[in-house]
Amino acid sequence: MRGIAAVPSYVVMQPTTLCNLDCVYCYLPLRAADRRMPLTVAEAVAASVNPWAASGRFSVVWHGGEPLAAGREHLAALLAPFGPAVEHHVQTNATLIDDAWCAFFAKHGIRVSVSVDGPRARNGERVTRGGRPAYDRILAGVAALRRHGLPFSALAVVSRPEPGLATELYDYFLDLGCDVLGINIEETEGVNTRTNARDAAAVTGFWAELVGAWRRDPRIHLREIEWSLRYAGAVLAGTADDLLPRQLDPIPTVSHDGSVVVLSPELAGFTDPRYGDFSSGNVLTAPLAEILAGAGRTPWVGEFLTGVEACRSSCPYFGFCGGGHAANRYFELGRFDGTETEHCRNSKIRLLEGVLEHARDHESPAA
Ligand code: SF4
Repeated sequence: MRGIAAVPSYVVMQPTTLCNLDCVYCYLPLRAADRRMPLTVAEAVAASVNPWAASGRFSVVWHGGEPLAAGREHLAALLAPFGPAVEHHVQTNATLIDDAWCAFFAKHGIRVSVSVDGPRARNGERVTRGGRPAYDRILAGVAALRRHGLPFSALAVVSRPEPGLATELYDYFLDLGCDVLGINIEETEGVNTRTNARDAAAVTGFWAELVGAWRRDPRIHLREIEWSLRYAGAVLAGTADDLLPRQLDPIPTVSHDGSVVVLSPELAGFTDPRYGDFSSGNVLTAPLAEILAGAGRTPWVGEFLTGVEACRSSCPYFGFCGGGHAANRYFELGRFDGTETEHCRNSKIRLLEGVLEHARDHESPAA
C-alpha cells in the first residue's frame, strides 16, 4: 500500500452542518449552525461520481451534522443529480425518522445507519440541545424503520469499557434488529477533548468478550470482529500481505460549502496555522476527480504519508491497521507524521489482542 488512490470507493457529503442533538462526546464544531449544502455542490460532485458508479459499486454517505435536519425537500434536491447506479447511505441519530422519512428512504433506496449507544442507561451522553436524554426519540425512529421493514445498521460509541458491557451491548443490538453493527471506542477528536487513554486490559477484555458474545449468536455483521477475523485468517493462510489495498482510499468528505477534505471527515471545519483548512480543493472551482488526483500534494497529506511509512517500518500491527486515521494523529499528537495514538491502541492493537485473547481462552485442548 503506497500513496493515495485517485478514485475513492465512496464519498461523504455534508448536507447541513446542523445537528438537532448535542451529544457530549461529539467532535463536530458547527453542529449548532444550519449551513446547508447548495445544489451546485451536489451537481459538481455527481459529475465525477456518476462515471465512477457506472464502472463499479459506488456509495455516497450523507453525514452531518444530522443529515435529516436538512429536510426531505432539500435532501431530495441534493440526491437528484446522482445517477441510479449510485448507492446512498445516511448516518443519522434517528430522532427525526417517522413514516414520511421511511417512505423517503424506500423511494430513494437509501440505506440507514443509526447512532445509538446501547440500552437507555448507556445513552446518557446522547442528549438534546436542552440537555434531555434523546433515547426515547431514537427508539421511536428505530420503531418506524422496523414498521416499514427497512433494514438498518447501528453505530455505537463506547466510552467506558468494563466487564459485562460487550455482552450487554451485543444482546441489545440483537433485540434492536440491526443487521450490521460498528463499535467505536470514544475518540479525542475535533471539539471533543476528553482523553481517550484507557486501561489496556479493560479495552482488550471488552473486545475479547464481544467476540464471545458474537460467536454465541452471529446474526449481526459485527464490523470490527469480522475485520479482525479476516486478518487472522489471512495470516494463517499466508495471504495477509494481500489484504491492505494497494493505495489508501481517499474517502473525500465534501463539506456543505463544497470544500474537499480527504482521508478523515473529522478534519472538515477546522483550521490550523500550519495546515490551513485541511482542504485539497473545492468542487465549485475544480472537478472532484481533479482534486483527488492532486490530493497527495496537499501539505498535511504528504506529512501523513510519512507517518504511514513510519508505522510500516515500526509497528507489528501495520498489516491489520494500514497506518491508522489522519484525524486521530492530528487531534492527539498535533501533527500527522507520528505513529501510535490512543485511538490506534484502543481500536486496532487491543482489538486484535482481544480477538487473540478470546482464541487462546477457547482453543480446543490438544488431542
Ligand atoms: S496500530 Fe498504530 S502504530 Fe500501528 S500501524 Fe496502526 S496507527 Fe500505526
